[in-house]
Amino acid sequence: MSNFQPVLLAFDFDGVICDGLLEYFQTAWRAYQRLFPDAPAQPPTGLAEQFYPLRPVIETGWEMPVLLRVLIQGTTATQILSDWPTLARTTIAQAQIESDEAMSAVDSVRDDWIRSDLDNWLAQHRFYPGVLERLQRCLTADLVVVIISTKEGRFIQQLLQQQGVNFPGAKIFGKEVKQPKTQTLRQLAADFAVEQGIWFVEDRVQTLQKVQQAEDLSQVELFLADWGYNTEGDRALAQHDPRLHLLSLSQLVQEFSAW
Ligand SMILES: [Mg+2]
Repeated sequence: MSNFQPVLLAFDFDGVICDGLLEYFQTAWRAYQRLFPDAPAQPPTGLAEQFYPLRPVIETGWEMPVLLRVLIQGTTATQILSDWPTLARTTIAQAQIESDEAMSAVDSVRDDWIRSDLDNWLAQHRFYPGVLERLQRCLTADLVVVIISTKEGRFIQQLLQQQGVNFPGAKIFGKEVKQPKTQTLRQLAADFAVEQGIWFVEDRVQTLQKVQQAEDLSQVELFLADWGYNTEGDRALAQHDPRLHLLSLSQLVQEFSAW
C-alpha cells in the first residue's frame, strides 16, 4: 500500500495468525449437546465441513451452537449468509433457550476442556503458513508488535511458545483486558506515543468498521486478512472501501512495501 512501515503493528490472533476452526467446531458441538436434548452422540457426517466456511457469520459465542442447530435442520449456506442475525434469533427463540444460557454453555464446555486436557485443547490450533516466520521477523525489527484478541492472552502466549515464538506477554491484549479492540488501539496509541503508523491486521470486517467509526483512530491503517474468517462479501466490501486494505497471505509474508 505504501513505502512506509508501521511504528506499531497490531495483529488479531484467530483467523490471522492462528486457525482455531477445529477447536471452534468441537466447542460448538459440545455446547450443542448440552443445550439440545435431542442431539445425537456424534456430530452428523459432514457437519463440521458445513460449519467451517460459515464461521464468519458468528459474532458472539452463543451463536456457535445455534449455527449447528440450523445446519442440522437443513438450512442452506445461502439462507444462512443472507440474514444470519434474524435466523439466529428466531432459531434460539423457537428452542426456548436464552442467549445467556447458550453463551454460558459455550464458555463452560471450553473451560472444562481446558481444565481437563489443556494439551489436547492446544493441539486443536493450527498456524497459517509463513505467519510465524513473519511474526518472528517483526519481533526483531524496529517496531512495536502487539496481539489484540478475544482469546485469553495466556493461551495465545502458550500456543506461540509451543511453536518456538517467544512473544512478550505484556504485548498480548487478550480477553482478560475486557475492552473492545478500538479501546485497546486507543490505549496503545497513548502508551507508545504513536500518532502515525499504527497498522491493524484483522480478519473480521465488522471489527475494522468499528475502528473506522472512531474519529480519534482515523490515523490507523486497517488491513482485512483475506485468509481468515470472512466471506466473499466482506472481502468485496474491503476492496471498495478506500480506508480498508485487503491483505493476502502472500503479501503478509513479504516486506511492508508489498502490503
Ligand atoms: Mg479474528
